[in-house]
Amino acid sequence: MKHLDGAAVTRPLDLTADVVVVGSGPAGSSAARELARAGARVLVVEAGPWVRPDEHPLSAFGAMSRLYRDMGASVVLGGAPIPYLQARMVGGSSPINGAICWRMPRDVWDEWCAADPALHDALPWPEIEALTNEIEARLGVAPTDPAIAGRKNLLMADGAAALGLEHRPIRRNVRGCTGLGRCLQGCPHGFKQSADVALLADALAHETTLLSNVEACDIVRTRGRADEICGRASGGGAVRLRARHAIVLAASAIQTPVLLLRNRITHGPVGEHFQCHPGVSLAGRFRDPVRMWEGATQGHEVIGLRHEGLKFEALGFDLTVLAARLDGVGRDLARSIADMAHWLDWGAAVRAEARGRVRSVLGRPVVTFTPSSRDVRRFRRGLRVLGEMMLAAGAEEVHPGVRGFAPRVTSRAALEQLEQHGPTRPGAYTAAITHMFGTCRMGREPRTSVVRPDFRHHAVDGLWIADSSVFPTSLGVNPQIPIMALAAMCARRVLAATAGARTTITPAA
Ligand SMILES: Cc1cc2nc3c(=O)[nH]c(=O)nc-3n(C[C@H](O)[C@H](O)[C@H](O)COP(=O)(O)OP(=O)(O)OC[C@H]3O[C@@H](n4cnc5c(N)ncnc54)[C@H](O)[C@@H]3O)c2cc1C
Ligand code: SF4
Repeated sequence: MKHLDGAAVTRPLDLTADVVVVGSGPAGSSAARELARAGARVLVVEAGPWVRPDEHPLSAFGAMSRLYRDMGASVVLGGAPIPYLQARMVGGSSPINGAICWRMPRDVWDEWCAADPALHDALPWPEIEALTNEIEARLGVAPTDPAIAGRKNLLMADGAAALGLEHRPIRRNVRGCTGLGRCLQGCPHGFKQSADVALLADALAHETTLLSNVEACDIVRTRGRADEICGRASGGGAVRLRARHAIVLAASAIQTPVLLLRNRITHGPVGEHFQCHPGVSLAGRFRDPVRMWEGATQGHEVIGLRHEGLKFEALGFDLTVLAARLDGVGRDLARSIADMAHWLDWGAAVRAEARGRVRSVLGRPVVTFTPSSRDVRRFRRGLRVLGEMMLAAGAEEVHPGVRGFAPRVTSRAALEQLEQHGPTRPGAYTAAITHMFGTCRMGREPRTSVVRPDFRHHAVDGLWIADSSVFPTSLGVNPQIPIMALAAMCARRVLAATAGARTTITPAA
């Protein structure tokens, strides 16, 4: 019994293991693997389905409706209704993410330790490095091969070089990638080494059972100790998962605080300090066809302005999404759509300073977040740099997608105008959020944090949190590898605290 599909669970199901892990994304899969490899019996409970590579939808909207939570229509409320995207499937968002890999930045770790010196010893840098090395080797992380980069990525290299900005091929978690450019719908060939492929599969080769299509709802406590997860299978059966030693929450920086709040586990700033990297993008038209759909989905990045909280990436998505990004109406729009092969879209991820909040309303997340005026200045600067790179790479015109500013720009002077005098309202910008942090943050002080520096909940015994909700701040870089590394570290702390315990998964009579 390695995989139980909740769609087939129509009657009550009762299982027991050493550790119950909620969520199978980068955090849950990494924690489960580390636990299982050390001999623990693990149950992983995942709300979404297990989708095999050949079942991934072809279109972006097909992927959103089948694989994304709320069909990709979740938005933060505040100064601008910005969508935040999360998948709901085995592997979490990793099967449909851009496959971009970054190691935990040393400067961010230094920031964390300066703010809370207890983290220096609790999250030792050499251990983070060693875990990252092991995870990167397992996931085949390597720079994008120019042979499969495609023009969208190579042109970004030209644009960055012309501006004198540091840039490089993106390091990606792929093996044998042929540059089909479909990462955001899920790789149809299984080339992407997402959490399900590279980590969960290893956990399942040990003593792990995966329950897909089962939503965890209740965290049951006995004499103050969390020892059971109750949930609902999509087939209708009630599911009861008993944890002999620990419950590890890895449901993401949005869903983990919601799970706590709906269970009235309100200790500390749960749901507060929400941080993210809103991304803005700019489309541009080139004289010759550039065929955005060809080549590695995201294969080149510009890192020279990371100290300003800005990082630039080539984007690759389905043409329906690109079409939605083009300006104009009627014949103008029809003309742009007809020559879609000439268009590219590049993005700027902003390390936003603003903080928001996640609340639970009727058991569902409500996220409030308003970019600060400094964040909006970064949007403007990011768009200017994107536009200058695109013009330098040969674009004839660029579309910044800013309401209240010229839709079509052909000169560097106009881009300078955008940076200096562009709209100050966050709602003027077309943004999206895919990286989220901080809503159950870690720290020594119980008043200002939700988990201890060893990932253990401050107030509820037996409860641990492994995902990026524990990160004290955002990273400014793509987070999946640091999430995997710290989740593995969380699992090690669970093992150390529960040493000696070995039992089996026992279905109830
Ligand atoms: C479109 C997109 C592109 C991205 N591109 C990149 C990239 O290129 N590089 C990068 O580093 N990062 C990228 N990211 C971000 C990265 O994928 C996430 O940061 C990462 O997946 C978060 O890992 P996680 O395990 O914390 O959460 P998730 O990946 O969100 O996984 C959490 C899992 O828990 C499940 N779950 C939630 N609540 C419950 C419940 N109550 N019961 C049972 N299961 C539950 C969810 O269904 C989900 O499968 C991208 C994200 C998106 C959406
Ligand atoms: S670019 Fe295409 S082939 Fe390569 S990993 Fe992504 S989906 Fe798979």
